[in-house]
Amino acid sequence: MKMRRIVVSFVLSLAAAALPAQVTAIRAGQLVDPSTGTTARDQIVLVEGGKITAVGAAVAIPPGARIVDLSKKTVMPGFFDAHTHLCLGIRTQGGNGLPELLRSLLAATAIETDAYRAIQGVANARDMLRAGFTTVRDVGNAGNYADTALRRAIENGLVPGPTVVSAGRIITPYGGQYHGLPPTRADIAQPEYLYADTPDEMRKAVRENIAFGATVIKIVVDDQPYLYSVDDVKTLVKEAAAGGLKVAAHCATDAGARIAAEGGVASVEHAYRATTPTLELMKSKGTYLVGTDFTRQAAHEMGMDEYHGWVVDRLKRAYAVGVPVAFGTDVVFEMPGETRGTLSIEFVTSFVEAGVTPKQILQAMTVNGARLLGMEKERGAIAPGYFADIVATDVNPLENVDAVRHVNFVMKNGNVIRDDAASGREP
Ligand SMILES: [Zn+2]
Repeated sequence: MKMRRIVVSFVLSLAAAALPAQVTAIRAGQLVDPSTGTTARDQIVLVEGGKITAVGAAVAIPPGARIVDLSKKTVMPGFFDAHTHLCLGIRTQGGNGLPELLRSLLAATAIETDAYRAIQGVANARDMLRAGFTTVRDVGNAGNYADTALRRAIENGLVPGPTVVSAGRIITPYGGQYHGLPPTRADIAQPEYLYADTPDEMRKAVRENIAFGATVIKIVVDDQPYLYSVDDVKTLVKEAAAGGLKVAAHCATDAGARIAAEGGVASVEHAYRATTPTLELMKSKGTYLVGTDFTRQAAHEMGMDEYHGWVVDRLKRAYAVGVPVAFGTDVVFEMPGETRGTLSIEFVTSFVEAGVTPKQILQAMTVNGARLLGMEKERGAIAPGYFADIVATDVNPLENVDAVRHVNFVMKNGNVIRDDAASGREP
């Protein structure tokens, strides 16, 4: 009897293994390829086992395939946000200035528990994915590795969220990004920041981060009067590379951006006031600009009104120079009626103001982000062999790029996350 049961279950498991995986066939009315800025009509996209297996007008739909009808929509690769802080949320109370923002940041990071930070991450990850962001690079400010917990929970299928590249603790010169720390409580900035001032400390900081789950290294070059030097940055980049990781560098100043580019980082973050010669240096080094290009409203919320004009001007010059640009937002504030996703996707309006073309904007949000994250052979395109990270809109963003703010279909790794038409909801 016992033997028989074993035989039956063995046969059943063989049968399960022999069953073909469920195939999904997407009917795409218009299919946008951001890398070429072209649109193909009436395409079929086949998805199996989370990946795209075929794309074309004459692709045969296998019998039994599940059909996703997007024949009245425009379909494109899911978006990348290369600068998020999912495990951080700040009530800014409408722009009370930068010192107030820093006080709010200190309160949010020093008082809030890591458990709550992880739960914030879950909510923000879900909302980013719903807005069309299927991949994010989360650049620290996650307490004591709440981001590693979030990344693992998403990878294990516990909670919905984008594919996450996470930075763990931010490596900085003494004091982190805080100013006026009380000498008796200099440790308040930890664990949010990982102080590293000597080459030995830098190597150890990188290794510690990798040991606790970081998949990208985030450094702050220039938030204190004492900056990291080019040699410091080279030390950090070399140690990160030894562990297979790239480096993202916070550079608020022009001097910081130059140091980071000379030091060989993968991306300069912010570069709010980078001069044109610095942008030219970045281009020559292949350094990505992740501009965190605040909308007028976001700049106001952060108490940084003047920054909006700066980033629009800097974006204009960056595109004129030809610096590689990846879309990144840096939203940490909360706003009634908005989600982290809706607030982040709005940053395309800064690109529009800077005169960046829809094709270039879509590239910054897809292929460029994929390249910066080292995922250009896996994500950021709708092609055979790529993960099925797919979004759709009613209007073709190449005709009106504002359409990306109204994504109403999201698939990640072949799973439908959002389909407003199927659920009977108005887009
Ligand atoms: Zn940031």
